[in-house]
Amino acid sequence: YFNQMEELKGRIRVFCRLRPLSEPERRQGGAAPIDCADPYTLCVGGDKGQREFQFDRVFTEDTSQQRIFDEVESLVQSSMDGYNVCICAYGQTGSGKTHTLLGDEQAPGVAPRAFRRLFELAQARAAQTSCAISTYMLELYNDRLVDLLAPAGARTDEKLEVKKDRRGTVVVSGAALLPCQDAAHLQLLFERAVGARRTGATRMNAASSRSHLVIGVTVEATSRVNGAVTRGKLSLLDLAGSERAAKSGADADQLREANAINKSLSALADVISSLAAEQSFVPYRNSKLTMLMQDSLGGNAKTLMFVNISPAQYNLDETLTSLQYASRVKQI
Ligand code: ADP
Ligand code: MG
Repeated sequence: YFNQMEELKGRIRVFCRLRPLSEPERRQGGAAPIDCADPYTLCVGGDKGQREFQFDRVFTEDTSQQRIFDEVESLVQSSMDGYNVCICAYGQTGSGKTHTLLGDEQAPGVAPRAFRRLFELAQARAAQTSCAISTYMLELYNDRLVDLLAPAGARTDEKLEVKKDRRGTVVVSGAALLPCQDAAHLQLLFERAVGARRTGATRMNAASSRSHLVIGVTVEATSRVNGAVTRGKLSLLDLAGSERAAKSGADADQLREANAINKSLSALADVISSLAAEQSFVPYRNSKLTMLMQDSLGGNAKTLMFVNISPAQYNLDETLTSLQYASRVKQI
C-alpha cells in the first residue's frame, strides 16, 4: 500500500466519492441508478444504458471522513518529505467537495486533519530536523486572485502576481505567507480564510461557491545533523462548482462567472491529461489556476483529484458530465 502511494510521484490519481442522498432529494425523485461494482468501478444506468467508469478508488456514501483521510495521509506525509502535493476536489455545487476537503466541526475534512498530522510529524522528527511551516490562502474568482489572509480592506488582487522563484516554486508575490506555530494556529488562519471566501447565491445551493479556494502549506525542514534543507508543499484545492450555468438560472454576472470557471476547469483537465499522456508540452499558461498550480502538477509532484458526485436522480446529467471530466483527466 505504501509503495502504491509512493508511485503517485509524477502521476495523477483520481478518487470518486459519492455522497449520501439528502432528505429533500429522497422526496424529489430519489436516487439515480449509480452502483459501485467494486472499489474501482462505478456503474451508472440511465436512458442511454449502463456505463462504467474506472477510478483509482471509488468511495460510496457510507465512507467516513476518517477513512478518506486514511487514504490520503501518506500524501500529506510526502509534503514533509520534500514533495509538492496537490489534493483537489472537483464536482458540481452540492456534490461534497467542501465536505471532503474542509468538512465541518462535526465531521472535519482533509484540511484540518492534514494540519494536525503535519505538526505531529514535525514534532516526531524534532530531534533530527527543525521544521518551518507557513501558509497562504487564496481565492481565484473570475480569474482574479484574492488574498484571504489579508486584512478585509486589503483583499485586492492588484498587487498579486503568480511568479516562479529560482527553484521553480510558484510564489504569489503580494500575498501573505504566514508562519504557523502549531496546528491550532494554522487551523485558526484557515477558518478566517474560509470565512472570507466569496459565496454567490445560486438557485442550486444558497452558499455555493463560484470561486476556487487554494490552501497552500509550505514545509521547510532543516536537518540538525548536516543543515540540509528539504522543501515541500501541500496544496488543497476546493474547486468552484462545475455545473453548467443554465441550470442555476444565471444572469449576466453569473454567466461571466460560469465562463471563467469553465475555462479554468478545462485548462486544468488539459494540463492533467497532457501530463498523463507524458506530452512534452504542458499548457500551464492557459489559465491562472494552472499557472498557480504549476509546481504541484506533474514533474516531481503528487496529484490527487477527488471527483465528488451527487446520488440524486435530478443531478444525473451533471454527474455524468463530472464522470466524463474525470475520465478525461485519467486518460492515458
Ligand atoms: P460542494 O462543496 O461540492 O458544493 P458540500 O460539501 O457543501 O458540496 O456538500 C453539500 C451538502 O451535502 C452539505 O450539507 C454537506 O454537509 C453534505 N455532504 C456532502 N458530502 C457528504 C458526505 N459524504 N456525508 C454526509 N454529508 C455530506
Ligand atoms: Mg463547496
